[in-house]
Formats: sequence, C-alpha cells, structure tokens
Amino acid sequence: MAMLDCHNPACQTSNFEGNQFCQNCRMPLIRRYLWAMGEGRYDPDEVLAGRYLCKSKNIFLDTKPGLLPNNSAEVPAQVVPYLRLSPWQLHVPQVYDWLERQAASPLLLLEQAALWVERLEGQAPNVRLLPALTDEWGKATALRQFNWLWQMANLWQPLHSEQVGSSLLKPELFKVEGSLFRLLELRLDRGDEPSLAQLGQLWQSWGAIASLELRLSYNKFVRSWFKAKFITLNC
Ligand SMILES: [Zn+2]
Repeated sequence: MAMLDCHNPACQTSNFEGNQFCQNCRMPLIRRYLWAMGEGRYDPDEVLAGRYLCKSKNIFLDTKPGLLPNNSAEVPAQVVPYLRLSPWQLHVPQVYDWLERQAASPLLLLEQAALWVERLEGQAPNVRLLPALTDEWGKATALRQFNWLWQMANLWQPLHSEQVGSSLLKPELFKVEGSLFRLLELRLDRGDEPSLAQLGQLWQSWGAIASLELRLSYNKFVRSWFKAKFITLNC
C-alpha cells in the first residue's frame, strides 16, 4: 500500500494510504487524487517531483499534501483557461500543480477531477475515472439526457471565449457524475474555431441512437436551443 505524509506541519508522519486518521496525531489524512492531463505513459508506483505517486494510468496521489504545490511563479499558457473558468469548476477541473518537462509543454495535474473514489475499509481507496457520458447516455432517462445537454450548452460560451470550446466536441472527455456533466480536461482550440454547428452535429448523432419518441423531442430541443442561441448571438 502506498504511503502518504500527514499534512499537519508539526507531525508529517508517514501513513498508509488506507488510513483514515494519522497514526501519530490523529488528524484526518488528506488524500488528494489528481488527473495528469494528456497522453502521458506512467507506470504504477512511478513518482513525479518527489511527491506525486502514480496509482494507475494518469491518476496520481499527492503523498505530501502538507507541502505547497511546486509550481513556479510563471503561469504557463495552458493553465490560464482553467483559472479563468474557475467559476465553472463544477464541470471543469482545476490545476493543482504543473511540472516542467524537457521538450514538451508542462504536465498539468488537475484537482477536483472527474475521478470516482471508492473508500474501502482498511485498504487503499479504489480510484478510477467517472463513467463516460457516451456509456451512460443510452441508459439515462430523457430528463437526465436533456439535463446533461443543458449543462453543455451553458458551458459553450465561456469555453469558446477561452479558446477551449473544442473540448465540447470531444466525447472522450465527457464524464458524468449522476446528473452532473464533467469534463475530464480542457483542450485548446487549434486552427479552426469550433462552431455551434459542429456541436449540433454531435448532439444530433446522439439523438440518432435514442428511441423514435425521444428522437423527435430531442431534435426539437436541439433545434429550439440553436435557434435561441443564434438569436442571442446575432443581437
Ligand atoms: Zn499526523
């Protein structure tokens, strides 16, 4: 089992990851699980920057939660959209730390990420990604589907203004936590700006997999939303 330090500055005792409380000072332990952005290949038990322990693909545990993050004074460009989108942190993770890499952009470690932590008595928690929206879509009620779409629709404008609107066109980034829509990470728009029409096409493609009854009301919903959106944009 992995070890992590107590965050109490006067203690800092090393504890098993599965412990609820520090074995020395009895403070509740902070287990901060982070998502490492991008396509990195990490081995379980690999440690980055002397503190971030790889639990499984791209999921890390901060083993020294009492220390401040390492990040340098200069904020990399990739971090800025996360900072600006902090009012939307229910749906968008936040940057906890970043690590400089040679010949590559900094590695961003995200907190409040789309991770599901299952607590197990006396063992290390089981941490994995939240379910993919595309897997849950067909099982969800029409009300829940509309609810997810409504959240995506509300995210479009703020993400678009930060040049990360194309994140809403990548279903592999869509996670759900019950009725809540969550993005795994943000992707910078490159080249062409993403358009509302592309978002519409993506939604329409989901509508096609629904029942006929739902498809009709779904298409009506998409059309009316886009109509309203275009009117707003044209004002
Ligand atoms: Zn302690």
